[in-house]
Amino acid sequence: MSIAYDYGRESIPAVASGKPRLLLIDGRHVPSASGRTFKTLNPANEQVIATVAEGNEADVDRAVAAARRAFEGPWRSMRASERGQILLRLAELMKQHADEIAALESLDAGKPIAGVLRQDLPAAIDTLTYYAGWADKISGEVVSTREDALTYTMREPVGVVAAIVPWNFPLMIGMWKLAPALACGCTIVMKPAELTSLSALRIGELALEAGLPPGVLNIVTGPGRVVGDALVNHPDVDKVTFTGSPGVGRGILRGAAGNFKRVSLELGGKSANVIFDDADIETASMAAASGIFFNAGQVCSAGSRVLAHEKVYDEVVERLTQRARAIRIGDPADRATAMGPVISEKQMKSILDYVDIGRNEGARLTTGGERVGDRGYFISPAVFADVEHQMRISQEEIFGPVVSVIKFKDEAEALRIANGTAYSLAAGVWSRDIGRVQRFAKQAKAGTVWINTYGYTDVRLPWGGVRDSGFGREHGTAALENFTEPKAVWMNLNV
Ligand code: NAD
Repeated sequence: MSIAYDYGRESIPAVASGKPRLLLIDGRHVPSASGRTFKTLNPANEQVIATVAEGNEADVDRAVAAARRAFEGPWRSMRASERGQILLRLAELMKQHADEIAALESLDAGKPIAGVLRQDLPAAIDTLTYYAGWADKISGEVVSTREDALTYTMREPVGVVAAIVPWNFPLMIGMWKLAPALACGCTIVMKPAELTSLSALRIGELALEAGLPPGVLNIVTGPGRVVGDALVNHPDVDKVTFTGSPGVGRGILRGAAGNFKRVSLELGGKSANVIFDDADIETASMAAASGIFFNAGQVCSAGSRVLAHEKVYDEVVERLTQRARAIRIGDPADRATAMGPVISEKQMKSILDYVDIGRNEGARLTTGGERVGDRGYFISPAVFADVEHQMRISQEEIFGPVVSVIKFKDEAEALRIANGTAYSLAAGVWSRDIGRVQRFAKQAKAGTVWINTYGYTDVRLPWGGVRDSGFGREHGTAALENFTEPKAVWMNLNV
């Protein structure tokens, strides 16, 4: 394992001072109402990066009240084009502070810096600029109904939005929520995952610098079951946008029933990446390896089940195994690192438990599945062959660098296995037969299908799933509907 520090915490102003990171409420940094803090760790070495204010119900009340005032006040009265300009200025500031933000994200989430610079940060900035462009283009329509009436629709912002964000892509997924909500004229209380609060707090500061009025974006850090729960149950929150696990998603639906909040849920996945025997097996296997091992497998759309046709099964297993062994695991701060640690000790133990479960179920571990080193939460990428569809490692989301390779005989069996879990987020298919890939794309239960590629997302295309993968779509014009309500207006012309 390589250890070579490209950056240190001293090069990141947000943590170099050693001062606690405070909540951001109504445009000001404030301690939590309780005065309590918690520690956030670097998953690569288990050392404390910073202490962070631990919010509670009282902080949520303050933040929601600030968001409501801003919604009724300066944000609502601001011209839409001006809102767009503020988002563009924030995008500019993020570019100016790119190295610092990327280092912060890498340090806090254990993500390899090269990947953050290549993917997370550009995607977050792209999301901002895309929705900045939408801010002054959200409109209703005139609809013909009767001769004696003018009838038209308006699109109004839904109001105060609670944005609850996971730890696997804190910056990027945070921006998937923040950018469209602000473009639509909503105000926000954001709750980052307690393991990764730092980039959100820094973005909040930059947003103020970009000219966002106080109270439009509030950030309350702290535990999900306290801060998240208080937001979900708050009577003055109009909408919850959540990315996280199905278990928490279910609780959110129940909590949101109190005042009939609008809810969108982006939950987990157990995506199938299906390789037919007429595919380019080398390319497909390489992409299948990236599809599961990127971000140490902590990706909702990870191709955690590789389905390989019986004629190419052994070759796919062999290529995946070779690829897994070649992945450079190391310190996320080193630009040559391809795979960093998983996020926490708890996550590491859960993944290693799944490796034991897979072995006990009779699957054949061809490589990996062990802790690497004794400091930091590193796991060697694991390949399970001879996996049966009903095994737990084939049905349950592991959220780590573990792939299950399953054999199939024909198209019908591949589709049955691909669609045979509780999740429906994404799927991939590899074949040169255009009829077959189109049939698969049509019949796959998934919000996204990749054909002869895997893993791409773009803010211009809808993103989300159904069943245990949640409901509602982020990205594109779908997200504009998430954060606006249509209103119908009738005007009598005979007065
Ligand atoms: P999680 O559900 O434990 O936490 C997600 C967020 O919810 C965190 O901010 C957490 O603090 C908060 N939370 C926890 N308990 C809460 C409660 N009772 N009320 C309100 N909020 C609460 O998930 P995680 O472990 O952070 O993330 C991993 C999960 O997220 C995986 O299942 C993964 O598939 C899913 N995910 C989905 C997508 C997608 O786009 N579909 C993207 C990334 C992650």
